[in-house]
Amino acid sequence: METIETDVVIVGGGPAGCSCALYTSRADLKTVILDKNPSVGALAITHQIANYPGVPSDMSGEALLDLMRDQAISYGSQYLRAQVFGVDVTGDIKTVYSPEGTFKAKALVLASGAMGRPASFKGEADFLGRGVSYCATCDGAFYRGREVAVVGINKEAIEEAQVLTKFASKVHWITSNNPKPEDLLAKDLMSKENVQHWSKTRLMQIDGNDGGVTGIKIKPHSEENPQELAVDGVFVYMSGSKPITDFLGDQVALKEDGGVVVDDFMSTTSEGVWAIGDIRNTPFKQAVVAASDGCIAAMAIDRYLNSRKTIRVDWVHS
Ligand SMILES: Cc1cc2nc3c(=O)[nH]c(=O)nc-3n(C[C@H](O)[C@H](O)[C@H](O)COP(=O)(O)OP(=O)(O)OC[C@H]3O[C@@H](n4cnc5c(N)ncnc54)[C@H](O)[C@@H]3O)c2cc1C
Repeated sequence: METIETDVVIVGGGPAGCSCALYTSRADLKTVILDKNPSVGALAITHQIANYPGVPSDMSGEALLDLMRDQAISYGSQYLRAQVFGVDVTGDIKTVYSPEGTFKAKALVLASGAMGRPASFKGEADFLGRGVSYCATCDGAFYRGREVAVVGINKEAIEEAQVLTKFASKVHWITSNNPKPEDLLAKDLMSKENVQHWSKTRLMQIDGNDGGVTGIKIKPHSEENPQELAVDGVFVYMSGSKPITDFLGDQVALKEDGGVVVDDFMSTTSEGVWAIGDIRNTPFKQAVVAASDGCIAAMAIDRYLNSRKTIRVDWVHS
């Protein structure tokens, strides 16, 4: 697998990550942004963003995000699709692990947002990592020739179910509603031979034993009683609000509410690691705040990597 070395690696390409990359690139720092799926972050799903200064009030969050990403790329940032599943922050060089490659950087920025959700299905927390997964790209190959379930109707669920069709003997796709008729990705998924779609169906519980998941109970809207399906893996893609920090282990301090602890410079408790945007879980979750965090972290990183005593403002070009 490829190892990429860089100055700054940013996990998450939302407004926080893209703004940070814009500033670090302009400070001549080699910057890589890693994002698991640009259409699932909080800004990406914002229908209309009427309060971001300077942009037309009918602009969609997705369109604004495209602009931010393109701007960071235009100044030299590298943007890669990669789902980060682990980091190692010990030592001067930080390592970031994803199925797509390993990344080594002098500075690590955590900008994965707060679109995670607490485990809420019965059995989900008990079997997490033992058959319950949130990443088909990471874990799909473990399910070669076996039956799995994918729960959720968003773009991430559909794309991850597509990944699983390459490995699993059968993919049960469970959605609480019907996908929209114009959703071509969903149409394509449902046309696969090894996909069974359970529309208007609720996941009731995930069952298992010491060896992991053994099955699920589902309740189709049209049926009186729940139905049992024998599956070895359950991939859950529901939205909700909780800082996404599962890939960090206990390597940076978190607040009681799950947000990452930072100082005035967005520096975490681990030297060389910054956290910006919704991952901090402040009460002020706004795109402009996330972008501002990114700017602060980038200037602090420039000072840290260049051993400067003061922050160098971006508009001094001489
Ligand atoms: C429905 C809704 C409406 C909103 N409306 C407004 C509004 O009108 N105005 C406003 O200012 N704010 C609004 N917000 C809030 C605003 O969108 C957020 O505050 C802002 O997007 C936070 O930016 P972020 O970069 O921290 O996180 P996000 O925008 O959530 O981006 C995080 C990125 O990290 C990526 N990621 C997550 N985990 C991983 C991983 N393991 N590996 C790689 N990448 C990963 C995700 O794919 C995502 O692209 C709204 C939020 C929601 C949910």
